[in-house]
Amino acid sequence: MASVLDLIGSTPLIEVSRIDTGPCRLFLKLESANPSGSIKDRPARTMIETAEADGSLRPGGTIVEATAGNTGLGLALVGARKGYRTLLVVPDKMVREKVLHAKAMGAEVVITRSDVGKGNPDYYQDLAEAITRRTPNAFFVNQFANPANPRAHELTTGPEILRQMDGDVDAIVVGVGSGGTLTGVGRCMREASAKTEMILADPEGSVLAPLVQTGRMPPVGSWAVEGIGEDFVPPNADLDLVRHAYSIADSDSFANARELLLQEGVLAGSSSGTLLAAALRYCRAQNEPKRVVTFVCDSGAKYLSKVFNPTFLAQEGFTHPHRHGTVRDVVVSRYPEGSAIVVRPQDNLRAVFARMRSADVSQLPVLDASGHVVGLIDESDVLAALLTEPDTNKAFARPVRDVMVTRLETISADAPIADLIPLFRKDYVGIVMDGDQFLGLATRLDLINYFRIARS
Ligand code: PMP
Repeated sequence: MASVLDLIGSTPLIEVSRIDTGPCRLFLKLESANPSGSIKDRPARTMIETAEADGSLRPGGTIVEATAGNTGLGLALVGARKGYRTLLVVPDKMVREKVLHAKAMGAEVVITRSDVGKGNPDYYQDLAEAITRRTPNAFFVNQFANPANPRAHELTTGPEILRQMDGDVDAIVVGVGSGGTLTGVGRCMREASAKTEMILADPEGSVLAPLVQTGRMPPVGSWAVEGIGEDFVPPNADLDLVRHAYSIADSDSFANARELLLQEGVLAGSSSGTLLAAALRYCRAQNEPKRVVTFVCDSGAKYLSKVFNPTFLAQEGFTHPHRHGTVRDVVVSRYPEGSAIVVRPQDNLRAVFARMRSADVSQLPVLDASGHVVGLIDESDVLAALLTEPDTNKAFARPVRDVMVTRLETISADAPIADLIPLFRKDYVGIVMDGDQFLGLATRLDLINYFRIARS
């Protein structure tokens, strides 16, 4: 009888069929099929079993790691099956789903700052090392330098690809987080398939692709894709194995992940979008047919609230990158595009509350059947209704039209952004009109977000 650990590896390989791959054939190795949902289950298992074998992890011990998420999930999965405590140090820009998943598997999670670099005690790797020193019987996994990380890929991922491709692979496109995949698969190919080129897919802002291209260390930028890209060269990343490198913008990575789901039905995470974008650039630049492999590193299910969430994409400035310098730029959720959350006058307060909570907003515009704004309802209006009606069920059943505010101040989408300030001073939100059409709301939070994007 197999255990869940036996499901690690031996992942399926499929061919891209509905996206233009130029003269090449492009194959995807679905690492999302691993039990915790990512490619990192492989090194997690190998690193733990190696530590058990060499005595650095003893019964009752604690596994400590600095991780962007997926390694932590793999460690939590394998660690718990083997009876260890798992403690993960995670930078605060990581997606909530990964943290909830790790905790649900029994891992302890310490969230730390993502805006500090190596040498700062709050930097996730420095903090993990410090925690290891003060925890008895603790094993610091250190995926960035642990040789068992690339070994997992050299012994499993690489040989699987060669078997599945009948030994005929011209190029493999990888990302680098720790460098385990690059170095392990690259070493396997160097030994067993000398013609196979390793191609690096790197987020714009990471130092790795520019370093490969120019030989010089560039200034570090920032990127939103998770799991790949670095501000240093991890000891486990052997960049000498890389033949070509591509820098991919976040917007391109996200768009490719979305396209992969639409065209091929494969739900992949943001780093897989980066890999696909680079793989497609490589494929389309070839003059002869080549057989190219890349990875679905993890499942898009972990990123539904980001990569596949129109509100998040708009907030990050991916949806409407064209800037007019007007109130229009501040509006994140737009009614004509179907992304604004609204209520009708006849809806009840229960529906209002459900919508506020699920969209994480504190006010909603009230629109009539013809799309005209007839009111505004916010959390204080709902609360006031509850406080004046002792029967809670009755209060929640009241229609919006009885409770909403109807004294509205609208603002034109073409007005200068500064025109919002007097509205906010009066504690109003901006009801933004495009001619006589409702465009959406502009709140203080939207303006703060606008400044964050515009000035970064
Ligand atoms: N994609 C995702 C989503 C990851 O979490 C990771 C690991 N950080 C990678 C790709 C890169 O793998 P590696 O650590 O082997 O470089």
